[in-house]
Amino acid sequence: IDEVLITIMRAPHSYTREDVVEVSSHGGMLVLNKIVALLLQKGARLASPGEFTYRALKRGRIDLLQAQGILDLVEAQTEDALSMAVRQLKGEASQRQQALREELKQLYTHLEAHLQFPDEGIEVSIKDMRKKIGRLKKETEDLIEGASAAEVIKGGIRCVICGKTNTGKSTLFNRLLKEERVLVSRIKGTTRDVVEETVCIRGIPIRISDTAGILNTEDFIGKKAIKKSYHAIDNANLVLFLLDYSRPLEREDFVILDTLKDKDTIVIINKIDLKKRLDVRPLHMSKPSVRLSALKGIGLPDLENAIYDTVYKDGVRHRDDMISLRQWQKDILKQLHSQLSNTEKYIDEGYPLDFIHFALGEAFNNMARFNGASSSEEILSDIFSNFCIGK
Ligand code: GDP
Repeated sequence: IDEVLITIMRAPHSYTREDVVEVSSHGGMLVLNKIVALLLQKGARLASPGEFTYRALKRGRIDLLQAQGILDLVEAQTEDALSMAVRQLKGEASQRQQALREELKQLYTHLEAHLQFPDEGIEVSIKDMRKKIGRLKKETEDLIEGASAAEVIKGGIRCVICGKTNTGKSTLFNRLLKEERVLVSRIKGTTRDVVEETVCIRGIPIRISDTAGILNTEDFIGKKAIKKSYHAIDNANLVLFLLDYSRPLEREDFVILDTLKDKDTIVIINKIDLKKRLDVRPLHMSKPSVRLSALKGIGLPDLENAIYDTVYKDGVRHRDDMISLRQWQKDILKQLHSQLSNTEKYIDEGYPLDFIHFALGEAFNNMARFNGASSSEEILSDIFSNFCIGK
């Protein structure tokens, strides 16, 4: 069929820690199909999605967090997402959760020894324990926050542009697509004409949607338009609200701003290349604002900064802190957090040590589900079904 290279990797020196044989061919659909058909005929079978990574996990070469890192690596669309995935693959996230678990275990077993063997003179310092639990709680919070930041880096944030007609929404949309790196090409819905583009602003993928209800608010006051706009705004993580520098405020501006009360919003004062007729004071805005000209391309770096600051509003996160977690893992951490809070409460309110021991045991058991190959089949299949065949 072809002249190929056969590589033999002996256990444990392979990706899965098993004996592995790889066939490298020159490629080409027909050639590949023929080689696969021949191998199948000789008794091989096709791998299921992520099977190799799954085997590596089962054999303890990598843990679950690392397996997730591999999936993130393959799916990475930006430099930041890639470097995050690589760190996770190298085991940084695994080490952090291991350290957390280890400390929890030590606290628990120490207290256990104290309770079980009261005559052995095993001392327990409540003050010390309280301090350690506080530290664990803080680390748990950091992990949860880091996971939220990671979601932004991985999945991007949903952004809508709104404002009354003629404020320059389409112009800004097109300007952003032109100036920023566009990641994904146009996705046009067949039934509804929703256009979504992903641009990359300072490493953050931003999914800007240009829905009929948002960009072309011919009549924002119109019932249907309002409904659509509400929906899009509801689903957005970030709203860019445009005002026109060359026109005085109108009722619509107030109406729209009113819908954005609880939203992360950047107010954009557009058309600063024209004569000023806008006075924003009556709006009593507490939101960050940026002045720019979408048409002339003035002020875009300020918009980038504002977006960056809004996304990372709790101060710029240290990028090394981000770890990519699934929802169920975040749920475990949230539970852990409240378990630790309870434990603190028991200590502060002077509950007997048995209570504290029990609470710590629960917290430890909770964490045990976090990163093992022993996770339920459902969880594992949820992760591995997202892999491509052969990964
Ligand atoms: P939309 O209805 O909010 O989508 O507004 P458009 O993007 O269609 O823009 C309405 C008009 O304003 C068009 O004629 C644009 O060329 C113009 N426009 C948009 N941005 C600017 C700007 O920054 N400066 C100037 N002078 N004109 C602008």
